[in-house]
Amino acid sequence: LVWQRKVRQSCQTKREDGLVVLVTGAAGFVGTHVSLALKKRGDGLVGLDNFNNYYDPSLKRSRQELLEKQGIFVIEGDINDAALLKKLFELIPFTHVMHLAAQAGVRYALENPGSYVHSNIAGLVTLLESCVKANPQPAIVWASSSSVYGLNTHVPFSESDRTDQPASLYAATKKAGEEFAHTYNHIHGLSITGLRFFTVYGPWGRPDMAYFSFTRDILRGKPITIYQGANKIDLARDFTYIDDIVKGCVAALDTAEKSTGSGGKKRGKAQFRIYNLGNTSPVTVPNLVSILEKHLKTKAKKDLVKMPRNGDVPFTHANVTLARRELGYEPTTDLTTGLKKFVKWYQNYYGVSGSRRTM
Ligand code: NAD
Repeated sequence: LVWQRKVRQSCQTKREDGLVVLVTGAAGFVGTHVSLALKKRGDGLVGLDNFNNYYDPSLKRSRQELLEKQGIFVIEGDINDAALLKKLFELIPFTHVMHLAAQAGVRYALENPGSYVHSNIAGLVTLLESCVKANPQPAIVWASSSSVYGLNTHVPFSESDRTDQPASLYAATKKAGEEFAHTYNHIHGLSITGLRFFTVYGPWGRPDMAYFSFTRDILRGKPITIYQGANKIDLARDFTYIDDIVKGCVAALDTAEKSTGSGGKKRGKAQFRIYNLGNTSPVTVPNLVSILEKHLKTKAKKDLVKMPRNGDVPFTHANVTLARRELGYEPTTDLTTGLKKFVKWYQNYYGVSGSRRTM
């Protein structure tokens, strides 16, 4: 069968002891970059993505083209499809699952809470169940989020800080995901590593994120809306460049211990780890805009809005001591350098004035 042949080919490793990885959300922003990095090292991998239309599906198709040029096959399917996952795990003895498929975004959760429950809770559980039944059981590395720190005001955020005040439904599903993952770890011996990403940005990024939509609107001469928190305090984010996140993901895969169960049987105690992956140096949204203005050589038309939006937290700031110690993680790209690379990609993809493609 064509499908099976493509999966097998894509999963062939080109180096001794290469990993064999199922990458969910492979046509997404982070999934694309992680997949390319694994392939470049000679690991075997296959992607899985449902190509939903939360944002421009043609951008996901362009990323898929990029992956296919490198010999990476992306299966079109949903992580809730237990039969598909069963077939896949029977076909390939995956050593690892890099789970990046999710319903992202904080504001869309107010319009469509069901899609968050579907992908971030039900989908995660379906995937974990499939991993329990698989033989061998793969080690799982998956994306949680800095949003689990919610309204916590103790900065920088450390992994042991409180996560009991989610500010959005998105955050609540990510927090629930951590609880489910931890439970699967201790009842089934699955090796699981959760990565709390802090606002990731870069080439091939997500059009729903502020740095992306600001770039689009500044180029089109449209006003951009800058929200502020209570008492007119500027919102700040620990913007983290995609290449740093990719290095953290790959290091987490490399250091993940094997699962100790096998084919539904519990064996011994497997690892459960949670790491922050951030940049450790937050920047306010007005400063983000100034950097973009410089790179785009265009002044933004700004609409300042005082009201904090539902779901936004005032700031994020990562303490990465644990990831530094255990993963060798070190963020190396500052926001000015990273945005320069993003803008270069953007103008190459959408045209210098941002009008080559529609979104
Ligand atoms: P993305 O939306 O670009 O990628 C997610 C991909 O998963 C999409 O291509 C989507 O089509 C796919 N998908 C969604 N639901 C699916 C399902 N049920 N079955 C199969 N595929 C499905 O988002 P991203 O920015 O690449 O994020 C990757 C992961 O990192 C997500 O878990 C996200 O919550 C997390 N995260 C991202 C950021 C960030 O700033 N980008 C920050 C914190 C956490």
